[in-house]
Amino acid sequence: MLRFHKLLHSISLWTYALTLLFLGQSVVAQEKLKEKLPIDPTVKIGKLSNGLTYYIRKNVKPERKIELRLAVNVGSILEDDDQQGLAHFVEHMAFNGSKNFQKNDIVSFLQSIGVEFGADLNAYTGFDETVYILPIPTEKKENIEKGFQILEDWASTVAFDGAEIDKERGVVLEESRGGKGAEDRMFRVVYPKMFQGSKYAERLPIGKDDILKNFKHDVIKRFYRDWYRPDLMAVIVVGDIEPAEAERYIKTHFEKLKPVANPRPRAYADVPARATSEGLVVTDPEATNHVIEIYYPSQREKETVTVSDYREYLVRRLFTSILSQRMQELVQKADPPFVFGGTFVGGYARGYESFQSIAYLAKGGPEAAINALVQENERARKFGFTAAELDRTKKMMMKGIERSFNERDKTESANLVDEYVNHFLQQEPIPGIEKEFQYHKDYLDAITLEEVNAYTAKNLPSPTTPKLVVLQGPEKADFKMPTKEELLAMAETAAKAEIKPYEEKAIATSLLEKSPTAGKITATKENTAIGTTTVTLSNGVTVILKPTDFKNDQVIMNATRFGGQYLFDAKDRFSAEFSSVVISQMGIGSFSPVDLRKVLAGKSASVSPRIGPISETLTGSCSAVDLETMLQLVYLNFTQPRKDQELFTSFVTKQQSLYQNMTSNPEFTFQDSVFNILYKGHAWSPKVPKGENIGLINLDKAVEIYKARFGDATGFTFVIVGKFDLAQIKPMLETYLGSLPASGKKSTFKDPGLRPVKGVVKKEVRKGTEPKSFIRLFWNGETPYNETENLKMQALSEVLNIKVIEKLREDLGGIYSGGVFARMSKYPYSNYSFGMALPCGPENVDKLITAALEEIAKIKKDGPTEADLNKVKETWKQQYVVNVKENNFWVSQLIQSVELGADPTGILSYEKRIATITPKDVKDAAVKYLTDKNYVQVVLNPEK
Ligand SMILES: [Zn+2]
Repeated sequence: MLRFHKLLHSISLWTYALTLLFLGQSVVAQEKLKEKLPIDPTVKIGKLSNGLTYYIRKNVKPERKIELRLAVNVGSILEDDDQQGLAHFVEHMAFNGSKNFQKNDIVSFLQSIGVEFGADLNAYTGFDETVYILPIPTEKKENIEKGFQILEDWASTVAFDGAEIDKERGVVLEESRGGKGAEDRMFRVVYPKMFQGSKYAERLPIGKDDILKNFKHDVIKRFYRDWYRPDLMAVIVVGDIEPAEAERYIKTHFEKLKPVANPRPRAYADVPARATSEGLVVTDPEATNHVIEIYYPSQREKETVTVSDYREYLVRRLFTSILSQRMQELVQKADPPFVFGGTFVGGYARGYESFQSIAYLAKGGPEAAINALVQENERARKFGFTAAELDRTKKMMMKGIERSFNERDKTESANLVDEYVNHFLQQEPIPGIEKEFQYHKDYLDAITLEEVNAYTAKNLPSPTTPKLVVLQGPEKADFKMPTKEELLAMAETAAKAEIKPYEEKAIATSLLEKSPTAGKITATKENTAIGTTTVTLSNGVTVILKPTDFKNDQVIMNATRFGGQYLFDAKDRFSAEFSSVVISQMGIGSFSPVDLRKVLAGKSASVSPRIGPISETLTGSCSAVDLETMLQLVYLNFTQPRKDQELFTSFVTKQQSLYQNMTSNPEFTFQDSVFNILYKGHAWSPKVPKGENIGLINLDKAVEIYKARFGDATGFTFVIVGKFDLAQIKPMLETYLGSLPASGKKSTFKDPGLRPVKGVVKKEVRKGTEPKSFIRLFWNGETPYNETENLKMQALSEVLNIKVIEKLREDLGGIYSGGVFARMSKYPYSNYSFGMALPCGPENVDKLITAALEEIAKIKKDGPTEADLNKVKETWKQQYVVNVKENNFWVSQLIQSVELGADPTGILSYEKRIATITPKDVKDAAVKYLTDKNYVQVVLNPEK
C-alpha cells in the first residue's frame, strides 16, 4: 500500500505561543505541566550496539498471536534520481527471495501458518518509511523462530535475484497502472504546486514507469545497501509472548547485523512555506466531481515533549473538532454550499503540516463553496466558539478516551503496534493510556472558552495568509470553469463579506418525552452450549442475548426480519431502496441528525435502520453504560421517523451533485454495463448510483414505505452481544422493545424473479483513455442451499486465489490486485455466484483469461494440492480462533442462523467442519459450479 495521505490528527502540535489561562486548575496539575511526557512503562524499548531499536509489549488479545513489525525509516524521499520508485520496489523484492527463503517461499510459508497474503497486505512504502507487517500465530514455537528469521532476512539478506526482479517489474507496473486515471492525472499537476521548492514534489513513492521498466539490477541493490541498515530500523513485537523471550529472539537475529561504515546521512527534505497566493484550475474529461482545495503554508510540526504540550494538543483537538462540526451543519441546508467539506490539519511530508480547506462542490459552484469554507473559518477566527459547543466537544473527547481506558486490557495487539511504529519513525509520544486518561481528567475540563478562542484566533489562517487555491474537475457545458485568476479572487473576496457570530439553536435535552408503555417477557430459553438466552416479548419480538467479556465497554446489536424492498411495486423502487437512507438523513423523534449528535454528546450509542432487498435490519452499538440510550434509539427508529422537506431536498441535491458526472469514470460505466449484461434490464437489477435515479425518490412514498416496514415489529429478532448483564437488560427490553407496535401479521419477502443471464455470454466494453483493462468472469446458477456445500465452494474460491497470486501475479507479472469471490444464498431463491476480477493491461487480457481458465481446468481435473487446501484451512482456523472472541463475529453468526433457520450451535463446530473438506470436495465443487457451458465474461478495454 502506498501512503499518500496522512491527513488529520497527528498527535504532534502546531506552533503556538504559550498564553494559557489556567483557571480552576490545581497547583499540582500546573506543576506537572512542566514535566516531560513519560514513556508507557508497559513497553520495553532497547537499542542494540549496532544501532537497531526495538520495542516489546506483552498483550494477550488475541491470545497465542504476536504482531511483528520491521520499521525502516527510509522511503522514496531517499531515492537518487535513477532510483525513483525503487524504495517501494525493494518492499516487493523482500517477498521474492532472501538468504533463508527461496523465491516465493515467504508467501507460501505465511499462507501455510494461516497468514493471508494479499497485494501489499504485508508491507507499505511511503515518502519517509517502509514498514513490514507480520502477524504470527504462536501455538508452534518454530513459527515464532521463523517469523524473526523472516524479519532478519528482510532487514539484511534480500536476494535481488535478477530474474525475480525482472518478473516483479510487471507486478509493480500493474500497481502503477491501477492508480492511473483522472484523479491521478490531476493530482500530478496539483502536487508539485503544493510542494513547490521541495524534494517531496519529485518523489511520489510509486516512482516513474520508465525507471520501473528499465532500471539496472545494481541500482536497486544500491538503495538496499545504502539504507537498510541497523541505525535506521526498529523491530517491534507486540503480543502474547514473554518480553524476555522476545528480547532473546531479537538479539539472536539482529545483533549480528553490522553497522555500515561511512553511512550516507539520512536527510529530511525541507518544505518551504508558500510566500504568495496562487490559483490553479485543473480539468480532466474523465473527472467525476468538482473539488475545491485551499492549501495554507506548510509549517513545522511542533514536537510533543512535555505534559504542557499534551495539554495544548487537547486545546487543538477541541478547536478542530468544533470547526468540523460546524462545517457538517452547513450541508444540512436545502441548498448546501457544498456536498461535503471541512478545514483540517494535514500533511504529506514528515515533520510538516498545514491547514487545508476542502470541499466537493454542489449546485452553487466554486463561489458558494469557497465562500462557505472561508467564511466559516473567519467566523471561528473572529468570534470563536460558544460555551455549549465547547461543553459538548469536551464530553465527546472525554467519552472517547474513557472507552479506550476501559478497554486497556482488551485492546488488540494489531491496534497497539502502530503506536510504537509511529514513536520510532516520528517520535509520537507514547505515555500510555493510563496517563492519557489522567491528563484528560486533569486538564480537559478546565480548558476555558477564552483559551480555545484565543488559540483559534492565533492559529487559523487569516484572509491575508498566502494560499494555493485549486479547482479540479471536468469541463462541462453547464459548469462555468473560472480562470485561475478568477478563482483566487473568489477566495480573496470571500473573507470580505460581513460575518456574524454562530448561533446556537435550543434543542430538547432528552431523547424521549415520555417512557413507552412496557411489554412483558413471556418466555425465556437458554442455550448453554453457546451461552445465549432467548427472550420472547409480549408483542412477539424475540431477543437473543449473549453477555461476553471479550471487551469491557462494548455492546453490539443487530436485528432482522424478512420483508424488504421487493415487496413494493417496481415503479417505486428508488423510494423503497432509499427509504431508510432518507430517514437517516432526516432524523428521529424531534431531532435532526445534527441535533441528535448534540443531544448524544458524552454518550456513545448509535442505531441504523436499513431496508434491504428481502429483509429489514437494524444495526447498533454502544458503550456499556449507554445500553438504555441505544434501546431508546431503536424505539425511535421504529416509531418516530422524522419527515423534513429541507433535509430531504438537501440530500437529493448533494447526491445529484456527487453522481451527475459519474459516467465519465470508465470503471463506473463498466460496472453499469456488467449489471445490464447480467440482468438484462430487469426492473430490480442492481444499479450503480446515478443522479437521475436519486431524482425519482418521492419523499412521501419513501416515508410511507419506511413506516410500512418499521411501523410493525412483528417477527423481528434482535441479537445483542457484549458487556451487559441479563438482570439489568431485561427490564429495558420490556420497556423499549416490548413496547414496539406489532400486529401479529407474519411478514415475508417476495421473489421478483431477478435471475442472471444463462449460457455463455462474452462482451466487451470500451471506455477510458488510459491503457487500462478489467476482466470480470461470473458463474451463476441455482442450487439447493447447504452450509457444507457453501464451505466447499468457499474453499474452491480461496484455493483459486492462491493460484491467482502464484501464476497470474508472480509468474506472469500480469496483475497487481484482483481475485476470486464466491457466495451461496438461500433467499429469495437458492443460488450461487462465483466471480473473478482481474484489472490488467490491454495487451494481457487474452493471456490472463487463458491462464485463469487453465487454473480452473486443472482443479476440475486433478483437484487442488493437499498443501494449498491446508493453507486455506489454516487461514480459516486462525481467523476463527480470533473471531470467536469478538462480539461482532457472534452477532453476525447469530443473525445468520436466524435468517437461515439454522442451529446456532453449529458456530462451535466450525473447526471440525472445515477439517472434513477434502481435495476431492473442492474438485467436485469446481466441476459443479465452474462449468464452461454457463458463464459470463465482460472485459473493459480502453477506447481506441
Ligand atoms: Zn506495492
